[in-house]
Amino acid sequence: MKKLLQGIVEFRKNFTDENRALFAKLALGQKPDALFIACSDSRVVPNLFASTNPGDLFVLRNVGNLIPPISASLTDNSALAVIEFAVFSLNVSDIIICGHSECGAMQALVDGMNIHSCSHLESWLKHGEAALDKIKNGFIVNPSLSKHNQLSQVNVLQQMEHIISYPFIRERIEKKQLRVHGWWFDIARADVYSYEPDLHQFILIDEKEAHLILERLG
Ligand SMILES: [Zn+2]
Repeated sequence: MKKLLQGIVEFRKNFTDENRALFAKLALGQKPDALFIACSDSRVVPNLFASTNPGDLFVLRNVGNLIPPISASLTDNSALAVIEFAVFSLNVSDIIICGHSECGAMQALVDGMNIHSCSHLESWLKHGEAALDKIKNGFIVNPSLSKHNQLSQVNVLQQMEHIISYPFIRERIEKKQLRVHGWWFDIARADVYSYEPDLHQFILIDEKEAHLILERLG
């Protein structure tokens, strides 16, 4: 807590006129272009690795960056409430589902970790089991990665399938009003990768790849 409180005091001290103008403008409303879906992991900080400002990203974070599929029980309202608000109210044009290396949720799925005392967590992680089944059936993106990191990459693709299972998402994709992207963050290197379906690989987002992605998006 000490670091957190010191950070708030520091933020107030260093608040520039530019910051003040930005927040005064943001108080009037938000118009983020993208919904960013990531893991709750403290090491995954989208605003830092994507150099974004307040107001740029609408964010959903949960354990394992999971999205309940349409077939799931309606008791999992939280994730879908965020997605509905982003799509219907904010009209975001892009949804990014971003997994990451060394994800504890993926490790729990791979190792069958003992989380029986955490019934909600156990129930939540079921939304990652379809990705685990894919791995077991030999569906792998990058075989050179450790098992839990392989699962983490396949899980990004699985969650893309889950989000597309909702008609309101699918319809907007078909009308070219919405795009869904799969990204993966490597913590040790602080590198971000984008899934390229044609290559069936996550490609490092450097200047060249960023240019190619933007060109393709038109
Ligand atoms: Zn994680």
